[in-house]
Amino acid sequence: MSEFGFIEGIKKLFSSLPERGFEGIGDDCAVLDIGGGESLVFTVDTLAEDVHFLRASSSAYEIGAKSLAVNLSDVAAMGAEPVASLLSLSLPADACGEWAGEFMRGYHALSEQWGVALAGGDTTSSKTGITISITAIGRVRNEHIKRRSAAVAGDVVMVCGELGASAAGLRDILDGDTDTPFAIVHRNPVPQIEEGRWLGAHKEVHAMMDLSDGLASDLIHILKASHTGAEIETANIPCATDTATAVCGGEDYKLLFTVAAASAESLQREFALRFGYAPSVVGRILPVSEYGEEICWLENGVRIFPDWQGFSHF
Ligand code: ADP
Ligand code: MG
Repeated sequence: MSEFGFIEGIKKLFSSLPERGFEGIGDDCAVLDIGGGESLVFTVDTLAEDVHFLRASSSAYEIGAKSLAVNLSDVAAMGAEPVASLLSLSLPADACGEWAGEFMRGYHALSEQWGVALAGGDTTSSKTGITISITAIGRVRNEHIKRRSAAVAGDVVMVCGELGASAAGLRDILDGDTDTPFAIVHRNPVPQIEEGRWLGAHKEVHAMMDLSDGLASDLIHILKASHTGAEIETANIPCATDTATAVCGGEDYKLLFTVAAASAESLQREFALRFGYAPSVVGRILPVSEYGEEICWLENGVRIFPDWQGFSHF
């Protein structure tokens, strides 16, 4: 079974239970309306040693910052402001002392940078490597929430920044080169928190998510949630290296979003004035009648059929 098949099964099994004010499983964060026109959003992400990081090739400080960063990225992807986190740590004996102290310093530095409180957590021992699980909580005005389900046929598809650098960096690290420019990007992901809030405040932005598993896999989540298709022009993808790495590589943590076509250019201009770079137009959303909930890949306008799949854990 695929990771996504497993999650679909969970969704079905629990569908008869009361939602208790929460929007159901499937977006970057769960959403809870708290009244007064505001919602809280919740996300949890786990990093396992030797799956998400190698102790030998990242410092404990970097792992501390990265494990919070990937959660804040999911909060940003909803258009929300991160406000707090909960931290659960399972530590083997050889990571309890200095490693844990450095980890917390990295976690603290990123928390301080974004004004995110540490609201609680859990600490246990481990017999099988380090496991870090973090819940991040964000706050957002209801009309600023960006869901994966809001893409509309005709929307322009945009990404915020270059893709593939993190995957190229992972390749370098696995080849034993832990200090290449790409490896440094891989070890130090930057959540696009200000970009996410800014895009959240723009109503011409429809659907949004963050790219954690690669465009080829993540865009499909928007297409399924929105019941649309998309065409993507590979020549327009801002690639850090080759196209396949940019499209299939994980852990870029760049925002992927769709914009009403009539507002696309002005949004790019305004965004560039605010952030000093423009998001890239990589394609457009199609009615589901064209190719189903699938991506039609183009190379300079001609349809191609690459075997591109994003990252899946199973
Ligand atoms: P992301 O990459 O944004 O962290 P995921 O691909 O991990 O999102 O998860 C997709 C959706 O499935 C999310 O809404 C997440 O909350 C939900 N999900 C994943 N695993 C589980 C699980 N074990 N139990 C309940 N929901 C899950
Ligand atoms: Mg996400």
